[in-house]
Amino acid sequence: MPRDPDPPPAKRFKPGSPFFRLDKKKPGMLLPRAGHAAVGVDTQRKQLPIYQSRTQLINQIRQLHNAVFIGETGSGKTTQIPQYLYEAGIGRQGIIGITQPRRVAAISLAARVAEEKKVQLGKLVGYTVRFEDVTSSETKLKFMTDGMLLREAIGDPLLLRYTVVILDEAHERTVHTDVLFGVVKAAQRKRTEQNKIPLKVVVMSATMDVDLFSQYFNKSPVLYLEGRQHPIQIYYTKQSQSDYLQAALVSIFQIHQEAPASHDILVFMTGQEEIEALARTCRDISKHLPESCGPMTVVPLYASLPPAQQLRVFQPAPKGSRKVVLSTNIAETSITISGIKYVIDTGMVKAKRYNPGSGLEVLAVQRVSKAQAWQRSGRAGREDAGSCYRLYTEEEFDNLANMTVPEIQRYGPHTVCRVCSSASAQTLLISPEFSCAEEVLTIISLLSVDSVLYNPPARRDDVLAVRKKFISSEGDHMTLLNIYRAFKKVSGNKMNMKLESSLSDLTNVRRCLAHGLFMNAAELQPDGSYVALDTHQHVAIHPSSVLFQAKPACVLFSELLHTSRCYMRDLCLVDADWLQEAAPEYFRRKLRATKS
Ligand code: ADP
Ligand code: MG
Repeated sequence: MPRDPDPPPAKRFKPGSPFFRLDKKKPGMLLPRAGHAAVGVDTQRKQLPIYQSRTQLINQIRQLHNAVFIGETGSGKTTQIPQYLYEAGIGRQGIIGITQPRRVAAISLAARVAEEKKVQLGKLVGYTVRFEDVTSSETKLKFMTDGMLLREAIGDPLLLRYTVVILDEAHERTVHTDVLFGVVKAAQRKRTEQNKIPLKVVVMSATMDVDLFSQYFNKSPVLYLEGRQHPIQIYYTKQSQSDYLQAALVSIFQIHQEAPASHDILVFMTGQEEIEALARTCRDISKHLPESCGPMTVVPLYASLPPAQQLRVFQPAPKGSRKVVLSTNIAETSITISGIKYVIDTGMVKAKRYNPGSGLEVLAVQRVSKAQAWQRSGRAGREDAGSCYRLYTEEEFDNLANMTVPEIQRYGPHTVCRVCSSASAQTLLISPEFSCAEEVLTIISLLSVDSVLYNPPARRDDVLAVRKKFISSEGDHMTLLNIYRAFKKVSGNKMNMKLESSLSDLTNVRRCLAHGLFMNAAELQPDGSYVALDTHQHVAIHPSSVLFQAKPACVLFSELLHTSRCYMRDLCLVDADWLQEAAPEYFRRKLRATKS
């Protein structure tokens, strides 16, 4: 729970409240190119900065095995370069694959390029994201998540269906893109060795780290794309803001009261809870404003929102209503949301970190990097001139880190191959001893993907009522298992593995978890709080846990989440004796350490 989930009541908000004024400090930092008018897609394509260099680009890339493209956001890299390649007949024997770190980007970009090429999505231009493949045998321009290409590479390491692979948004340094660098490099080399059709690899990036990319790809040339299409004015706050949510709220309504209704707002925040809370507050306040203000359509966007709902951000608001998109960093790169004229950047992001010492992943709210801040402001100038309100001072901006630390350095290596952490592997390996390999494999699989539980705020009560059927008083792991078993009953078993099951007796499953996860144990203290046995740090049960209301004496957790407190997530009730039995030497040492 990143912040106080209770939104301030509507009546406490005073429009135009003087404590926070947006300060016009450094306007026009990013300069426009030629003027722009509302025109058709063909003309729009020709007005993009990249269009001037089209012929030159095509000639250069035709000669190269590898190229690195650097260009500011909005120059036309993602939508145009794949089309230029195709139009010039480069890579026609196979598919031109373009990777994106996020599914919403892959989908919306494919839709845009299909529109520009005037074809039906899924024919010449298509996309593949997890659980959705909108391609056909005709597809030549294929937008996909980096994770999907990685998955394809497992079955086809030479990526033989592809003649060109474009790794887009390389500066984001997602684990998947980073791993793909190695995969495509190896595929390229082997295809040359085996006299197969060569693979062209293009890396595209908004900024920086250019030399690294170029060096990695055999000192490939770096091609710079000049210019951006529209100017963006950047504003900083005069004073540092102690409450970025309150600051965001005031900014939204300041803009809402002053700007024409067709000027939409995109706000960058950190996670689902605060986005849903602010969405409620905004809807509430907008209802109580004078008629002159006009209505507001608030649309949330975060990764755990079902895919179809994520795409709602691309729909225009009803006429006369202002669209306010509240998003996590998922909208930070690649995407163009029509109508966005204002970006409000809280300067915060939730990021995962892996602590190799404890083997724990910690999800914490932290400041963005400069590169991220620029990507966020870039969303305001996609279609026309725009403004970005940074809810921090210019000095605070200057002190931000230049680049975000690449995920591959922050995450545990297990996240790459989507297997399981060191502790989970241990649990799995010992599970046959407890005759519950099937259950443990299920639990670990469910924990290693994004949560299977969806919590639509509007249907909270319905969801909780349905979920009650699955809840186990023995904790979240057993609850997940119940859900999976119910799912399997309706969907059938797709695995061909023969696994032993402990059936209705789940004690063994919990004991097995205790043996694997003994380092992630916490004990109830006399004052009702919890202390983690490994680190002796104070921890609390996350409100999302089914054990939140209970006070179990001893629990295991799968994840620690650092926000205002240190929360344990995904809990399992265990016997303290099982922990002793699992690692007697470890607990003796712990005990000695506490006493000395
Ligand atoms: P880059 O990858 O260099 O950031 P893109 O190729 O994604 O740039 O987009 C270039 C421009 O094309 C955008 O700034 C915008 O003007 C236009 N554009 C792209 N996608 C859309 C869209 N879905 N709707 C309207 N305009 C779009
Ligand atoms: Mg792009």
